[in-house]
Amino acid sequence: MELIKGYEIELFEPPCLPGSPRWGAKVHIDADLADLLPYLNGALKKRFYDPNSQTIVFKLDGHGIAVRPREIRLGNLADKEEGEKVAREVIDFINEIAGKKDTITPDYTRKEPPKAIEIFKLLPKTNCRKCGQLTCMAFATALAKGEVDIDDCPELHEENYKENRERLEALFMG
Ligand code: SF4
Repeated sequence: MELIKGYEIELFEPPCLPGSPRWGAKVHIDADLADLLPYLNGALKKRFYDPNSQTIVFKLDGHGIAVRPREIRLGNLADKEEGEKVAREVIDFINEIAGKKDTITPDYTRKEPPKAIEIFKLLPKTNCRKCGQLTCMAFATALAKGEVDIDDCPELHEENYKENRERLEALFMG
C-alpha cells in the first residue's frame, strides 16, 4: 500500500526576480513522513539530514529535493510539466522506500550540509541576479537548504569559475 496517495503541487518562480527561467515547487502531501526520514537517510548515499528540523536533502536527476514530514520541495525546474514529472518521481521513490522499510537500517545521525558562508566563498560574488536571487549570499543560503541547485548559477559555467564550481560540487559530495 502506498504511503503517499494524494498530493498537490504549488509552483513558484524564484521570489526575488520574477521571470527567472528556473522554477521551484512545494508539494503538499497527504501523509506524515516523520517516521520515514531516518529510513531515507539510511537508504540514500548522497544526502544531508537534520533530525532536529526533520529535513533530508538530496538530488534527483540534477534537481535539489528537500523532504520534510508534510511537504517536499523541488528545485531547478524548467517549467510546470517538469515540476509535475519530478514530483511524481520523488513520490514514487518515497513510496518505494516505505514499501521496503523492513529491509533498511534506519540512520538517525545528523549529516550536515555545507554552511552558507562556505558556499558563498566559492560563488562569483557579483550579485548579478541571473540565478533569480537578489544576492550571491541569498543564493548560498538557498543552496545550503537544498532549495536551489549549483546549476542555477549560470556564472559558475564560465571557464574562469571552473575551479570554484568543482570545489562546490566536492563540498556537496559530503
Ligand atoms: S547567478 Fe551566481 S553570481 Fe549571479 S547572483 Fe546568483 S549566485 Fe551570484
